[in-house]
Amino acid sequence: MIIVLKPDATKKQILHIEQKIKELGLKPMLSAGKERTIIGVIGEEDKARLQPFEAFPGVESVVPIQKPYKFVSREFKKENSIIKLAPGVEIGGQKFIVMAGPCTVENRDRLVNIANLVKKSGAKVLRGGAFKPRTSPYSFQGLKDKGMKFLYEAKKMTGLPIITELMDPRDLPLFLKYADIIQIGARNMQNFELLKEVGKTRKPVLLKRGMASTIKDFLLSAEYIVSEGNHNIILCERGIRTFEDATRFTLDISAVPVIKKLSHLPVVIDPSHCSGIWDYVAPLSKAAVAVGADGLLIEVHDDPEKAMCDGPQALKPAKFEILMQELKSIAKAIGRTI
Ligand code: PEP
Ligand code: MN
Repeated sequence: MIIVLKPDATKKQILHIEQKIKELGLKPMLSAGKERTIIGVIGEEDKARLQPFEAFPGVESVVPIQKPYKFVSREFKKENSIIKLAPGVEIGGQKFIVMAGPCTVENRDRLVNIANLVKKSGAKVLRGGAFKPRTSPYSFQGLKDKGMKFLYEAKKMTGLPIITELMDPRDLPLFLKYADIIQIGARNMQNFELLKEVGKTRKPVLLKRGMASTIKDFLLSAEYIVSEGNHNIILCERGIRTFEDATRFTLDISAVPVIKKLSHLPVVIDPSHCSGIWDYVAPLSKAAVAVGADGLLIEVHDDPEKAMCDGPQALKPAKFEILMQELKSIAKAIGRTI
């Protein structure tokens, strides 16, 4: 439930309400929005109803949240959430953000080279996996700790914040040290213990939609992260499994307006993993801007034929450069800038 406070509610009144919520074994979550200040009550809705919060001083109204996901819902927060990714870089606002880089970190020089190229074309975040979720245990699993250090070096050299995938909560300290955004991959979207662990941090988390998950499942996974206190979440549509086999997955383009209606969180599209083919990356990226996504996560490689992972879907830097230019006019048409 949401407890909506009166505009003149005092600190003392707020503390009193929060105290009562805790006494019920629930967690209060204060959120000061532009229009109103509210306290979200985290935990079982039935327990929250044991207190007549309507009668408390400073309370204007008590609103139950109908949706199974509570704090990521539009019912909880009307305005779009804007997530600060790094100093001067945020997502969910007027600016459309492109995150780009190789599927996996292969070596230091190649990563720095790609980082410089994508930066020159206008990317604002560098992507690259150091821990790779491969379908086969015999495929390259990533450079791990060494890869994280290369990412950090590339960040220091280019100034680009980095996004990289976390698979194991035991690696979290390493990610807290080196990453700017923690990516939770499609295969781990319902790894609830992992979600809770990143929820305990305040690092931005990019949560990818599971390939066989509904939007409701997706938002409930985001709710796991918020319920531990981390509101810095970006949702990523990366394609779902359908009967269609012309592409690796099927991009659910309508997920963007649907999620925008249901949730206040920013939504980005990954045109690389959903298609699996570089040729489709540009048209799908353009569709992402037009449909109202807040950004893109694109794989770029300077020599896709030699890529250790996902070469067929990687854009060459020259193609990426052209795409970035083309995206600008689409963004302008809908009142955004890149
Ligand atoms: C990735 O972005 O590197 C990745 C493995 O993506 P997904 O989890 O969407 O398959
Ligand atoms: Mn990949």
